[in-house]
Amino acid sequence: MSYSNLSLSAKIFIAMITGLILGLTLQYGLGSPEWGETWLTGGIFFVIGKIFINLLKMLVVPLVFVSLVTGTSALSDPASLGRIGFKTLGLYLLTTGIAVTMALFAAVIFKPGLGAEPAAAMLKDLPANKSFAQVLIEIVPTNPISAMAEGQMLPIILFAVLLGVAITYSGKAGERMSGFFKDLNAVIMMLVTFVMKTAPLGVFALIFTLGATLDLAEFSKVAKYIVLVLAVLLVHGLVVYPSILVLLSGLNPITFLKKMRPAMMFAFSTASSNATIPVTMETIANRVGVNNKVASFTIPMGATINMDGTAIMQGIATGFIAQFYGIDLTISQYLMIVVMIIMASIGTAGVPSVGLVILAGVLANVGLPVEGIALILGVDRLLDMTRTAVNITGDATVTTIVAKSENELDLEVFNNPLAGQETK
Ligand code: ASP
Repeated sequence: MSYSNLSLSAKIFIAMITGLILGLTLQYGLGSPEWGETWLTGGIFFVIGKIFINLLKMLVVPLVFVSLVTGTSALSDPASLGRIGFKTLGLYLLTTGIAVTMALFAAVIFKPGLGAEPAAAMLKDLPANKSFAQVLIEIVPTNPISAMAEGQMLPIILFAVLLGVAITYSGKAGERMSGFFKDLNAVIMMLVTFVMKTAPLGVFALIFTLGATLDLAEFSKVAKYIVLVLAVLLVHGLVVYPSILVLLSGLNPITFLKKMRPAMMFAFSTASSNATIPVTMETIANRVGVNNKVASFTIPMGATINMDGTAIMQGIATGFIAQFYGIDLTISQYLMIVVMIIMASIGTAGVPSVGLVILAGVLANVGLPVEGIALILGVDRLLDMTRTAVNITGDATVTTIVAKSENELDLEVFNNPLAGQETK
């Protein structure tokens, strides 16, 4: 079989493996020569990687806005949106609750903080965390255009939903607008398909740079922490989600995970749930079979408020930092950590490293030393990539469950292994 006949996920996978091997070879085999930094990691692959992420980000706001207006204005019964929102939010909170509880148990049982050496990274000023009240207030945009310009997801979602509902109530004018948005949505989805074709090259550039700059020596200092975070992430992604999917929707989790593979690889390479939104939406609509009415609402919402992988890192990191400084946490502090981690991620966009910013707020609130973050900062990149893949899998799992319960899942598409493969 020739390369051009391979599926998109196979191409991305090959790009990841070769990128990693060549990147590691540059660093450990050739000793990071200066030309490598000048021409490759700081040159051509730096540019390609950044352009690839920019291309994805370029699509996020237009896609979320247009597909959400299209989805909402196609609802025959706008009240169903309330029901969908309620179910989705409930499941997002539930899965995050499970994630952080599991992480804290793992931290208490395996004690990753004992015997760790501080990793070398310096703690830069982390931006401040917003209060929950502030997040609630800012969901309503005073200026939808500036919300779009700044890419603030929750205000965009609210405005698009209100506009979509208004369209359904606007008679003939509404019908014309609805038709316009439907066409625009189809065009933007085509744009997503174009951008996805560039993925193998973009992913190669990102992973090559990772391999060439990853400091493995730092890893050994906090090895237990890293292994524990990765293990809990794996359990959450490969055991918890599949179990919830089977229990609540009766769908085959293997089929689901197989279909999600390309989106997970995008999330892993970019470390940004937000930048991955176009790919998650494309995958969930064309490969999993979820109707746009549901996905256009739940996926962008999930990328912003549902970060189970991040919650896992935060739960273990909190335990790790407490143990490192010899601080015993009480049961009420543990409960507070659970609630805070769930609340803190709401309203924080899924972008690289944001989990550490949220963690700083959590630590400060439970009275743990915020400087503790410096212990794990230097090794966060790989964990950030992995947890982002879990984050978007969580969004997709909940979306699929909600769609199935609303009769908005096309089982023929779900059960067809080749559905949506034309993007290769
Ligand atoms: N990078 C993660 C995401 O985009 C957030 C984080 O954990 O830092 O979902």
